[in-house]
Amino acid sequence: MIRYFLARGDRAGSAVITEGLEHMICSNPPPAVNIATLYMKTYCTACKQEGFIAPKGPRWPGTAPNGKQWALSGDINVCGCNPPPVFYAERGMSMTFTAEEAASLVAPRYCSNSRSLEAMESADEDLECYYEIVDAKTGQPVEGMTYKLSSSSGTLVDSASLTDGRTRSFPVKDYPNVAFVAWHAGDVR
Ligand SMILES: [Zn+2]
Repeated sequence: MIRYFLARGDRAGSAVITEGLEHMICSNPPPAVNIATLYMKTYCTACKQEGFIAPKGPRWPGTAPNGKQWALSGDINVCGCNPPPVFYAERGMSMTFTAEEAASLVAPRYCSNSRSLEAMESADEDLECYYEIVDAKTGQPVEGMTYKLSSSSGTLVDSASLTDGRTRSFPVKDYPNVAFVAWHAGDVR
Protein backbone atom coordinates (compact mmCIF):
# COMPACT_ATOMS: atom_id res chain seq x y z
CA MET A 1 0.00 0.00 0.00
CA ILE A 2 1.32 3.41 -0.99
CA ARG A 3 -0.09 6.70 0.25
CA TYR A 4 1.13 9.91 -1.40
CA PHE A 5 1.59 13.19 0.42
CA LEU A 6 -1.08 15.78 -0.25
CA ALA A 7 -0.32 19.37 -1.20
CA ARG A 8 -2.10 22.68 -1.69
CA GLY A 9 -4.25 22.43 -4.80
CA ASP A 10 -4.96 18.69 -4.47
CA ARG A 11 -8.61 17.74 -4.80
CA ALA A 12 -11.21 15.53 -3.20
CA GLY A 13 -14.11 15.64 -5.60
CA SER A 14 -15.28 19.26 -5.45
CA ALA A 15 -13.02 20.13 -2.52
CA VAL A 16 -9.57 21.65 -2.92
CA ILE A 17 -6.79 22.13 -0.37
CA THR A 18 -6.24 25.86 0.13
CA GLU A 19 -3.34 25.72 2.59
CA GLY A 20 0.17 24.30 2.46
CA LEU A 21 3.44 24.47 4.38
CA GLU A 22 5.38 27.49 3.21
CA HIS A 23 8.81 25.86 3.35
CA MET A 24 7.89 22.27 2.52
CA ILE A 25 7.78 21.95 -1.22
CA CYS A 26 7.55 18.93 -3.49
CA SER A 27 8.56 19.49 -7.10
CA ASN A 28 8.36 15.91 -8.35
CA PRO A 29 6.52 16.00 -10.66
CA PRO A 30 6.44 19.75 -11.49
CA PRO A 31 4.96 22.19 -10.74
CA ALA A 32 6.32 22.70 -7.22
CA VAL A 33 3.57 22.45 -4.62
CA ASN A 34 3.34 23.18 -0.90
CA ILE A 35 2.91 19.99 1.10
CA ALA A 36 -0.16 19.91 3.37
CA THR A 37 -0.84 18.50 6.82
CA LEU A 38 -3.95 17.22 8.55
CA TYR A 39 -6.51 19.86 9.53
CA MET A 40 -5.37 22.35 6.91
CA LYS A 41 -8.14 24.37 5.29
CA THR A 42 -10.06 23.32 2.22
CA TYR A 43 -12.93 24.75 0.21
CA CYS A 44 -15.68 22.63 -1.30
CA THR A 45 -17.59 24.05 -4.26
CA ALA A 46 -20.27 21.32 -4.01
CA CYS A 47 -21.57 22.38 -0.59
CA LYS A 48 -19.95 25.84 -0.69
CA GLN A 49 -18.26 25.38 2.68
CA GLU A 50 -14.81 25.73 4.08
CA GLY A 51 -13.61 22.46 5.52
CA PHE A 52 -10.43 20.70 6.54
CA ILE A 53 -8.42 17.55 5.90
CA ALA A 54 -9.22 14.73 8.34
CA PRO A 55 -7.20 11.54 8.81
CA LYS A 56 -8.31 8.21 7.38
CA GLY A 57 -6.34 4.98 7.13
CA PRO A 58 -2.83 4.07 8.24
CA ARG A 59 0.05 6.52 8.59
CA TRP A 60 3.49 6.33 10.08
CA PRO A 61 4.15 8.39 13.19
CA GLY A 62 5.84 11.74 12.64
CA THR A 63 4.79 15.31 12.19
CA ALA A 64 5.49 18.26 9.95
CA PRO A 65 7.21 21.42 11.26
CA ASN A 66 3.78 22.77 12.29
CA GLY A 67 3.33 19.84 14.69
CA LYS A 68 0.54 18.24 12.65
CA GLN A 69 0.74 14.88 10.90
CA TRP A 70 1.17 14.74 7.14
CA ALA A 71 -1.94 14.70 4.98
CA LEU A 72 -2.01 11.65 2.70
CA SER A 73 -3.88 10.56 -0.39
CA GLY A 74 -6.94 8.71 0.90
CA ASP A 75 -7.59 11.17 3.73
CA ILE A 76 -11.01 12.76 3.68
CA ASN A 77 -12.45 16.26 3.48
CA VAL A 78 -14.76 17.34 6.28
CA CYS A 79 -17.40 19.66 4.80
CA GLY A 80 -21.13 19.52 4.28
CA CYS A 81 -20.92 16.57 1.87
CA ASN A 82 -21.96 13.08 2.89
CA PRO A 83 -20.15 10.78 2.31
CA PRO A 84 -17.06 12.95 2.77
CA PRO A 85 -14.97 13.47 -0.38
CA VAL A 86 -11.67 11.50 -0.50
CA PHE A 87 -8.41 13.23 -1.48
CA TYR A 88 -6.36 11.78 -4.29
CA ALA A 89 -2.80 12.55 -5.37
CA GLU A 90 0.29 10.85 -6.79
CA ARG A 91 3.70 12.42 -6.38
CA GLY A 92 7.30 11.71 -5.49
CA MET A 93 6.67 11.80 -1.73
CA SER A 94 4.84 8.85 -0.25
CA MET A 95 4.49 6.49 2.69
CA THR A 96 4.43 2.74 1.99
CA PHE A 97 2.94 0.00 4.13
CA THR A 98 2.71 -3.77 4.06
CA ALA A 99 -0.79 -5.13 4.67
CA GLU A 100 0.13 -5.99 8.27
CA GLU A 101 1.57 -2.53 8.88
CA ALA A 102 -1.49 -0.93 7.32
CA ALA A 103 -3.73 -2.85 9.70
CA SER A 104 -1.67 -1.99 12.78
CA LEU A 105 -1.19 1.69 11.88
CA VAL A 106 -4.76 2.54 11.01
CA ALA A 107 -5.68 5.97 12.37
CA PRO A 108 -8.37 6.54 14.95
CA ARG A 109 -11.55 8.09 13.65
CA TYR A 110 -13.85 10.41 15.46
CA CYS A 111 -17.54 11.03 15.34
CA SER A 112 -19.27 13.94 16.95
CA ASN A 113 -22.44 15.96 16.61
CA SER A 114 -20.30 18.93 15.74
CA ARG A 115 -18.29 18.86 12.52
CA SER A 116 -16.09 21.78 13.44
CA LEU A 117 -12.31 21.67 13.58
CA GLU A 118 -12.40 22.96 17.15
CA ALA A 119 -14.49 19.96 18.20
CA MET A 120 -12.04 17.59 16.52
CA GLU A 121 -9.05 19.14 18.22
CA SER A 122 -10.40 19.77 21.68
CA ALA A 123 -12.00 16.33 22.10
CA ASP A 124 -15.30 17.82 23.19
CA GLU A 125 -17.80 16.13 25.49
CA ASP A 126 -19.52 13.78 23.07
CA LEU A 127 -16.58 13.03 20.78
CA GLU A 128 -16.00 9.33 20.33
CA CYS A 129 -13.02 7.49 18.92
CA TYR A 130 -13.13 4.36 16.82
CA TYR A 131 -11.05 2.61 14.17
CA GLU A 132 -12.08 1.58 10.71
CA ILE A 133 -10.22 -0.79 8.40
CA VAL A 134 -10.98 -0.54 4.71
CA ASP A 135 -9.29 -1.89 1.64
CA ALA A 136 -6.86 0.74 0.39
CA LYS A 137 -7.81 0.16 -3.25
CA THR A 138 -11.57 -0.29 -3.12
CA GLY A 139 -12.50 1.56 0.08
CA GLN A 140 -14.63 -1.43 1.08
CA PRO A 141 -14.58 -2.65 4.70
CA VAL A 142 -12.09 -5.47 5.25
CA GLU A 143 -13.78 -8.77 6.15
CA GLY A 144 -12.51 -11.28 8.66
CA MET A 145 -10.47 -8.94 10.84
CA THR A 146 -10.48 -9.38 14.59
CA TYR A 147 -9.42 -6.62 16.91
CA LYS A 148 -8.46 -5.64 20.40
CA LEU A 149 -8.81 -2.18 21.93
CA SER A 150 -7.00 -1.11 25.04
CA SER A 151 -6.51 2.14 26.92
CA SER A 152 -4.39 3.26 29.82
CA SER A 153 -7.02 1.72 32.13
CA GLY A 154 -6.74 -1.74 30.53
CA THR A 155 -8.33 -3.83 27.81
CA LEU A 156 -11.63 -2.44 26.51
CA VAL A 157 -12.48 -5.03 23.87
CA ASP A 158 -10.68 -8.30 23.13
CA SER A 159 -10.97 -10.70 20.20
CA ALA A 160 -13.99 -8.93 18.72
CA SER A 161 -14.89 -8.93 15.03
CA LEU A 162 -15.12 -5.71 13.06
CA THR A 163 -18.64 -4.61 12.09
CA ASP A 164 -18.57 -3.17 8.58
CA GLY A 165 -14.85 -2.69 9.10
CA ARG A 166 -15.39 -0.69 12.32
CA THR A 167 -14.57 -1.19 15.95
CA ARG A 168 -16.81 -0.11 18.79
CA SER A 169 -16.38 3.55 19.68
CA PHE A 170 -15.42 4.99 23.04
CA PRO A 171 -15.76 8.52 24.46
CA VAL A 172 -12.48 10.37 24.11
CA LYS A 173 -12.93 12.13 27.44
CA ASP A 174 -13.07 8.79 29.29
CA TYR A 175 -10.53 6.95 27.14
CA PRO A 176 -8.04 9.45 25.74
CA ASN A 177 -5.42 6.88 24.73
CA VAL A 178 -7.25 4.10 22.93
CA ALA A 179 -4.77 1.75 21.27
CA PHE A 180 -5.71 -0.64 18.51
CA VAL A 181 -4.43 -4.04 17.40
CA ALA A 182 -5.95 -5.93 14.47
CA TRP A 183 -5.32 -9.37 13.10
CA HIS A 184 -7.01 -11.78 10.75
CA ALA A 185 -9.29 -14.25 12.53
CA GLY A 186 -7.25 -17.39 13.17
CA ASP A 187 -3.86 -15.74 12.76
CA VAL A 188 -1.38 -15.82 15.56
CA ARG A 189 -1.29 -12.48 17.34
ZN1 LIG B 1 -18.62 19.58 0.40
